[in-house]
Amino acid sequence: MRFVGGHVSISGGLPHAIGNTVKIGGNCLQIFAGSPRLWFRKPFADAEVRAFLSGVKQNNFGPVFIHALYLLNLASSNTGLLEKSTTSLVADIQNGALIHSAGVIIHIGSHLGVGFDTVKDQLVAVIQRVLGETQDCDLILENAAGQNGKIGSLSELAYLLKKANDPRLKICLDTAHLFAAGVDLRSLSAIKELTQELKDLNLLDRLVCLHLNDCASDLDSHRDLHANIGEGNIGLAGLRLFINQKELLHLPLILEVPGDNKQGPNLKNVTLARKITTLQ
Ligand SMILES: [Zn+2]
Ligand SMILES: [Zn+2]
Repeated sequence: MRFVGGHVSISGGLPHAIGNTVKIGGNCLQIFAGSPRLWFRKPFADAEVRAFLSGVKQNNFGPVFIHALYLLNLASSNTGLLEKSTTSLVADIQNGALIHSAGVIIHIGSHLGVGFDTVKDQLVAVIQRVLGETQDCDLILENAAGQNGKIGSLSELAYLLKKANDPRLKICLDTAHLFAAGVDLRSLSAIKELTQELKDLNLLDRLVCLHLNDCASDLDSHRDLHANIGEGNIGLAGLRLFINQKELLHLPLILEVPGDNKQGPNLKNVTLARKITTLQ
């Protein structure tokens, strides 16, 4: 059975993520390890870790991912922002280790126009520092749609993985970001080209998660706008084609769709996602 779930809230405490996942029909999940609007992070308390882990076990859930703050920017030239980004990321990974998370997924950040080459050494150094200060939980770099200098094209990810050279460094691909970055997931030949590129860049073995989102923006628009499954420009047929490629069939699917009234992934979307995977 394939692992399909969504980003769920821990509002009210970490163990609430269990019920929230059951409610949407998920068997894997993604959370923020604290408030998505605040830099402040504190370690999960023992009691909530125990309750959460027993919930994961009772429900036979697959991987638990943590999404890092959207606020962070590892490419920032502002030392204050860079320090806050690094500190919160280290705290997220430490919390990830406590709950046996499959990894902390990050949007690397933006070079704000100066170009990847200008910031790449800093990125490698920060990634190595974060991995050096943590253990027992992976760091997962997500691909970007490419707007406003956002870092995370496949070649950039490949560069960072190669240079940082750490087995705990992994990647996550978001279907909406791929489409907005110009990969036409409605076309089998474009998907085949993508999987070949992933192989050529040594990224396929490091790919541990798919963010399954339809895309509300146009192909190659570089705009990061998620849509409900089947309601965007990729569409149900494109998403089905992509997730069932043999190279990708083992990967968990995490939805980050708007749902109804922007309440986030819901039962309808997760059910639809489960319906289109061939691995029942
Ligand atoms: Zn994503
Ligand atoms: Zn996105």
